[in-house]
Amino acid sequence: MQKNENIKNYVIVGGGTAGWISAAILARTLHNTEHTITVIESPNIPTIGVGEATIPSIVDMLEFLRIPLKDFILKTNATFKLGIKFVDWKEKNHHYWHQFGHIGNKVDAQPFYQHWLKHQFINPTFELTDFSPAIALAKQNKFFIPDPKQPSNLSKSAYALHFDASLVAKYLTEYSTALNVKLIQAHVKDTLLDENGNISQLTIDGHESIKGDFFIDCTGQSALLINKALRVGYENWQHYLPVNKAVAAQSELITPLSPYTESIAHEHGWRWRIPLQNRTGNGYVYCSDYCSDDEAIGLLKKNVPNIITEPRVISFTTGKRNKVWHKNCLAVGLSSGFLEPLESTSIYLIMKTMLNFVQSLPTKEMAEPTINEFNRLIDNEYYNIRDFIILHYCETKRTDSKFWQMWQNLAIPESLKTKLDLFKCQGRLYENHYDLFASESWYAVLEGMGVRPKSYDPIIDKSLFDKIEKAFTESAKALQINASKTLDHAEYINRLKH
Ligand SMILES: Cc1cc2nc3c(=O)[nH]c(=O)nc-3n(C[C@H](O)[C@H](O)[C@H](O)COP(=O)(O)OP(=O)(O)OC[C@H]3O[C@@H](n4cnc5c(N)ncnc54)[C@H](O)[C@@H]3O)c2cc1C
Repeated sequence: MQKNENIKNYVIVGGGTAGWISAAILARTLHNTEHTITVIESPNIPTIGVGEATIPSIVDMLEFLRIPLKDFILKTNATFKLGIKFVDWKEKNHHYWHQFGHIGNKVDAQPFYQHWLKHQFINPTFELTDFSPAIALAKQNKFFIPDPKQPSNLSKSAYALHFDASLVAKYLTEYSTALNVKLIQAHVKDTLLDENGNISQLTIDGHESIKGDFFIDCTGQSALLINKALRVGYENWQHYLPVNKAVAAQSELITPLSPYTESIAHEHGWRWRIPLQNRTGNGYVYCSDYCSDDEAIGLLKKNVPNIITEPRVISFTTGKRNKVWHKNCLAVGLSSGFLEPLESTSIYLIMKTMLNFVQSLPTKEMAEPTINEFNRLIDNEYYNIRDFIILHYCETKRTDSKFWQMWQNLAIPESLKTKLDLFKCQGRLYENHYDLFASESWYAVLEGMGVRPKSYDPIIDKSLFDKIEKAFTESAKALQINASKTLDHAEYINRLKH
């Protein structure tokens, strides 16, 4: 057996959310080992500055980094998020919720959804998310963190955070530099490759060269290392997800402070609303074939009162890098791909890529089988998220504009078609263990978009319908009552401050 030639010098290019999450996860993992981690961030190129809504895995990442939740919340102006409210997606004047955490409990070992479905066919009284603890809280602008020692019917809620992206980068810069990450503020001008096609060094301002064993490309959409130097191509998914622009602006704080993200469908796309402690983040996401930048800015201003920053237009191309890990370079963040922010999945993909990476750390030899498996797993994440996002559009009943009419004819991926066909028969969903969005998320969006199976699973007829119906009524009522007894979201955050 040969002795490992370990990677000693990691170089991360880019100081946005991706760069600093990468630095923090790497520094925490390699703490007390012989290594250097250097972050190079350009003083001339700003970060993208959006990316303020997350999903519950953000809380796991903070735990992994051993960052106290309270400290993080107070220093990043964060608020809590219990799910997303989708307004006008199925049709105008309709809304639905996508919850975090569970909806109901299994009955007789069968999915709650199936029992609820039978109930809908016989006696449609309750909406699916009436059985979600997170949505019971969200609807009343309430929040609490379930205490495992005091279980209640609200315990199965889960939460994520909304935060100020620039304060998060600052927080993680301080965290990482305290763990000996070195920061160089300079512009990378050139990338040199060795005879094997690996990156050997970078040239920065002033012609200084920075050597490294492994390079992490967090340069955002410019993909300086993975694309410009290593020529790894991009799989463009605009034919599935044609929105390609967003205009973002901040507005004044709105009360009451809602513990959820809002996603409101509009004529040419949709608009997000992300409440923070001190302000609100807003953006209008659209397709340039149907809406000019000026029109989008006008629509944002019309729909968002009290804007406090100049609206900023951002372009993007939905898709993913053919390989996120190639040679001695890993692409993380926007350099690795982008799926529109409808389900707040980009920061999750940054964390997931890095958490997978620290479990697959290479030696200088760069084992191809490890790299191939790593890339396969990240590809699966992208496919699963892509299909889930398309689901929000492809079943719409809206035809009130060219944008929505387009969705009536747009082809969907075969993987999504198979899933929908299966679901439409008897409401069955088949999960892969690596799917980010579990069946309960799919049920919520399918139901929200008005996709109902023809019938329910026949096994449900084994259970006693009357008994279950009674339990449904009691449980939906009890959730509402218990939610009403918890603290207002704003008050919960206030108490963290004292
Ligand atoms: C409209 C929109 C809304 C979004 N909303 C969400 C959301 O709600 N939730 C979510 O999870 N994600 C969201 N995202 C995605 C999220 O913003 C990004 O995934 C995240 O900010 C990571 O960006 P990044 O660090 O890869 O790139 P950037 O923020 O663009 O950072 C790039 C860094 O690279 C540096 N750099 C570039 N070139 C060089 C060079 N030559 N030399 C040195 N340094 C260089 C820059 O200075 C900068 O520091 C959204 C994205 C968009 C476009």
